[in-house]
Amino acid sequence: MIRLAIRAPSEAAERVLGELLELAPSGVEQVDGRGFVEYAVYGVPGELPSLPSGSARLGGVTVEVRGEEVPDDWSERWKQWHRPVDVAAGGRRVRVRPPWEAPLDGEGIDLIVDPGQAFGTGGHHTTRLCLELLLEREPAGALADWGCGSGVLALAAARLGYDPVLAVDFDPTALEATRENAEANGIAGVAVGHADLSGSPGPWADTVVANLVRPLLLDVAARLEQAPRVIIVSGLLRAEGDEIAAAFTPHGLREADRRDSGEWSALVLESR
Ligand code: SAH
Repeated sequence: MIRLAIRAPSEAAERVLGELLELAPSGVEQVDGRGFVEYAVYGVPGELPSLPSGSARLGGVTVEVRGEEVPDDWSERWKQWHRPVDVAAGGRRVRVRPPWEAPLDGEGIDLIVDPGQAFGTGGHHTTRLCLELLLEREPAGALADWGCGSGVLALAAARLGYDPVLAVDFDPTALEATRENAEANGIAGVAVGHADLSGSPGPWADTVVANLVRPLLLDVAARLEQAPRVIIVSGLLRAEGDEIAAAFTPHGLREADRRDSGEWSALVLESR
């Protein structure tokens, strides 16, 4: 777990906060100092706003950026920055929550994901977009989660009724987190395996979710052997949408839906 601290001069704090909340929608910690305000975001690498260490421009001013590992035995303070994430779409809802938060009240998919292990506490714009797009579809057949992180999308898919569900990642921490999270939620139907998507195609399934980043999505498109019926891709910036959609067209996949949130986009590509 990393604490990413962003220090802004007091007089520009509001503007910095405004822009920071675009990057860290689940909220920030605030510490007031003399002449400055420090905002902090807690998360694992990759999930944190990508700001260069040292100094960065935010809200029109120069801010100081510093990331430090939060020791395991440190205060439990960071926990309050991991709130449940609720996504509702297509008449369904899902809550992704840390174990210490209350379950969803009423109908819906309640998922426990322990933060601090792998990317994907549900709070990132791109994860939320993928969840939203998944909730809107009628679940059918097999689903593969390429780059599963904590397994949040695979677990949600299994609960929605996709069967079988395959979750792959090249990071052993992600595979372990996905297995643990599946167990913590009593979900048996998720097969977890290692795959390096930059070297070979991910396991085929009728539906694929791939919340990766632009260069890797381009690689994935280039290596695709058999097109899935539907692939939901995210991890791309708004400006990258057209390029990513175009990369999949040679496989007969066409854009059926596009969503934006913050600076991010997600696409649904379907076989013609
Ligand atoms: N699906 C989760 C996590 C997305 S983060 C969610 O939506 O929240 C992207 C994941 O892709 C990370 O877990 C990272 O380890 C994985 N990844 C990055 N490069 C990869 C590669 N070359 N092969 C396989 N997985 C990769």
